Amino acid sequence: MPQDEIEQARRLIKESNRISAFTGAGISVDSGIPDFRSEGGLWERYDPYEYATYDGFLNDPSKFWTMGQELAEVILKAHPNDAHKALALLEKRGKLTGVITQNIDNLHQRAGNENVIELHGNYLRAYCMKCKKEFVGETIHRRVADGDIPPYCDECDGVLKSEAILFGEPLPEKAMSRAIEVCKNTDLMLVIGTSLQVYPAAYLPQLAKNSGAEVILVNLEGTNRDNVADVILRGRAAQILPRIITME
Ligand code: NAD
Repeated sequence: MPQDEIEQARRLIKESNRISAFTGAGISVDSGIPDFRSEGGLWERYDPYEYATYDGFLNDPSKFWTMGQELAEVILKAHPNDAHKALALLEKRGKLTGVITQNIDNLHQRAGNENVIELHGNYLRAYCMKCKKEFVGETIHRRVADGDIPPYCDECDGVLKSEAILFGEPLPEKAMSRAIEVCKNTDLMLVIGTSLQVYPAAYLPQLAKNSGAEVILVNLEGTNRDNVADVILRGRAAQILPRIITME
């Protein structure tokens, strides 16, 4: 990777005190959670339109939970990597106003970030569709692994749903409006590990840009929205972030 771009990114980070991050599945790939679209990803084996739509879930929740069992095993084994840790360091230094994430794996929180905005929910929480009782995802995933598919509420017998947002399900309003606030008030956005294909989330870097922010894009491959970036760093997030977010 050209040293010039690394230096440029370092300088932007050093000069900014209102940095935000927008992350996608790619930041967690080096933690052992494959992104869904790449080779070997979940969508190669499960058609998302069959297994991961909200309507599909209402019709037959067992399909989602069958796929979900596989995903849970991977997520529960994962640990934050050096990219998550670098963002936690930035927050500790008082320079990060928020991490907006499309991820559902809880790894930003586990790395130490407190201001995390989850646009697509969290796979490690679940709730009853009928009485809204909340459940710790890990407990539910263990039940599912033991063949309890779909899992039902122990209070009212309603079906349980993961808090992860499915295709066709509205995004959590509060999270979206917090994310918009962060985008409007940032002067530098780090966009990390996202193909920028899932809307409306993928519009957020453009919003930050339109509000006057500079944008650094860290991704393994090109995206359809690379033109939003002032600096493009092509490569693995866990290798690049520690090089541009340093202790100084
Ligand atoms: P995506 O799968 O569409 O794109 C991921 C991008 O990351 C790709 O462009 C890929 O080239 C890049 N990438 C892969 N490995 C990388 C690495 N080591 N470093 C840097 N970049 C890397 O992911 P998305 O844009 O987040 O959208 C997919 C949706 O799937 C999201 O809505 C998210 O909720 C969900 N998802 C979440 C997780 C998770 O929580 N870890 C995992 C898979 C998918």
